[in-house]
Amino acid sequence: MAVFNHIPMGEKGLKEVYQWLDDFVIRNESIAYKKLIGKSPDNWEIPAVFITNRNLPNDDKQIAIITLERHGQELGARVVGPEIIHYLSSNDAKEIRDTQVVIVVPVVNPEGFILNEFHSSMTSLTKTERLLLGGLFKAYPPDMIIDFHSLGKVEGSKYDRGDMEAIIPANTTRWAMDEQIHQYVAQKMRNAAESAGWPYEIHTLEDLAAYYFGGTEIGNMPWTYLQEKVYLLHMQDFHDNYDIPEESAYTNYTCGPAYLKWHALVFGMETNHWALSQPGDIASSGMVPCSALLKMGSTRFSWEKDRGYPVNILHGDFRISIRPLGKNASERRSSRTRIWGERKNFSLPQREMPDQETTIARVRYFGKDLPIEFALCLRMRQSPIDRITISGNEVKFESFEDTCSTFVYIPIVMKKAGTIELTIKHPSK
Ligand SMILES: [Zn+2]
Repeated sequence: MAVFNHIPMGEKGLKEVYQWLDDFVIRNESIAYKKLIGKSPDNWEIPAVFITNRNLPNDDKQIAIITLERHGQELGARVVGPEIIHYLSSNDAKEIRDTQVVIVVPVVNPEGFILNEFHSSMTSLTKTERLLLGGLFKAYPPDMIIDFHSLGKVEGSKYDRGDMEAIIPANTTRWAMDEQIHQYVAQKMRNAAESAGWPYEIHTLEDLAAYYFGGTEIGNMPWTYLQEKVYLLHMQDFHDNYDIPEESAYTNYTCGPAYLKWHALVFGMETNHWALSQPGDIASSGMVPCSALLKMGSTRFSWEKDRGYPVNILHGDFRISIRPLGKNASERRSSRTRIWGERKNFSLPQREMPDQETTIARVRYFGKDLPIEFALCLRMRQSPIDRITISGNEVKFESFEDTCSTFVYIPIVMKKAGTIELTIKHPSK
């Protein structure tokens, strides 16, 4: 039984959702509280519900943000927010509450909700979204962010009208294996949805453009252009800090700038309010892939040193990468943000094996944000690692494992720009 088995409509419906949120936080005060992040131009309150184990400090928790109902007529997004919040109070979500602060904004666009109209921008975030969400994200820089929309009989898809539900690993880039990582996570979300009986598709931003901008005539889309991935490059603004003028930039989902600014894991979601005729089904089908993603945020990905969302490869690939430093999630987040901002000032890290017992790793930093602190991380066939030296001096390192290899994680401080070379000694394989 879903929280909402009908689609709340109009002013009455908005008040019904808000009343449910108030009742929820009263019933669940040990794990939930509400904050007003601001008001809509029409003076409707826009609340965010925070869910976490309030007895545990937030320093070592991931920050996950879920925004919904930015586009007023996308009815499915109205029932998914309460369903996710309800799920987060369940026993199944205990580990999520212990290890994450989950922030849900169930209705980003209350006016559109009341009007049952799009009442938003086709080309960018609205001024209200920039102000309110931008403020929220700055105070709680997300490790993961998911933005829920809903396709219907006429909304969205120009080539598949009425039926689709989609996970959109969009607004990301191919930098630091991010495209692969987002696809990997999206497939796990899809598997979870399929196991629960909900057939989801995974679509990239390029595919998505065809839903929205293609026109309805057959053959109206510049398909080659999209497949060559030029689209993303041209439509994302790398200087967008949730504060650029409304007229410019593309952001169909709230999460694009969050990826560029904090290297957050970002997903758009499209549930469906036409093919799914029962509102309770829409709520469940939206909640299932989201809860799968939240659960992943409480585990350690095989290539990550610590528990949390897989956002710590900042340059390079799985075999050699630049990663953040820090003893807890909060420190690693700020280190991550800083290094990510400097990513273009690092060379692609190199590795080579002069002999069977030696691996050399090199990276050059040519930026100005000094001293720069980061970790170099190598995936090794050999173990155990005997010792690591920089210019003949032994340095400390940590290691962690996946099923078939050992990752060696070496904290580095560079006081001036230049190249650093590490020598790693290990048994031969
Ligand atoms: Zn939408």
